[in-house]
Amino acid sequence: MKHIVLASGNQGKLAEFAQLLAPLGVDMLPQSQFSVSEVAETGTTFVENAIIKARHAAAITGHATIADDSGLEVDALDGAPGIYSARYAGDNASDNDNVSKLLTTMQAIPQRTARFQCVLVYMRHHKDPTPIICQASWEGVVSHQRQGENGHGYDPIFIPNETQDLSAAQIDAHEKNRLSHRGKALQLLISAMQEKGIV
Ligand code: IMP
Repeated sequence: MKHIVLASGNQGKLAEFAQLLAPLGVDMLPQSQFSVSEVAETGTTFVENAIIKARHAAAITGHATIADDSGLEVDALDGAPGIYSARYAGDNASDNDNVSKLLTTMQAIPQRTARFQCVLVYMRHHKDPTPIICQASWEGVVSHQRQGENGHGYDPIFIPNETQDLSAAQIDAHEKNRLSHRGKALQLLISAMQEKGIV
């Protein structure tokens, strides 16, 4: 069994990653098991922030790590909230605060195309000079009001191109994994890890 630490405190992500990696002989461990503290995401790109998180967790745990960084890019806002998606309405903002701020900001904007971005990084150890970096996106538009109860973050106001006017909060988890930025990035990461003989 290979142990890989997930550099995230999110239980939902841990379950998602563990489910896909367990059949490949990987035991995904939460970074909380090693008392890894939050690290400041000081990068200006998803790639930099994912590497910062993966490196920090690898340094503290001594294990290989996977980290992700993701967010919503709105074209009419020059890519905002982007890497600041989780803190768009302030440092301790809730999902609801962030959604409200985006709806208000875009109230009079007819051009509503947007995409979720996800970068996943695998680091063999904290000095790994060639981490594996995979990226995927999910195209759609920002709606004018919330729709649906599933998911998290901006899901209630993101209408993917593939779902016939349903928001990302109105489709089930299986369908979301098939279509989403994170699901697709994870498939790419698994393929890259298999190609390199890591799993
Ligand atoms: P993080 O990469 O987990 O820090 O996520 C960044 C932020 O992007 C989250 O807090 C959400 O606001 C947003 N986000 C990322 N992925 C999704 C998604 O699949 N649905 C809704 N919001 C998302």
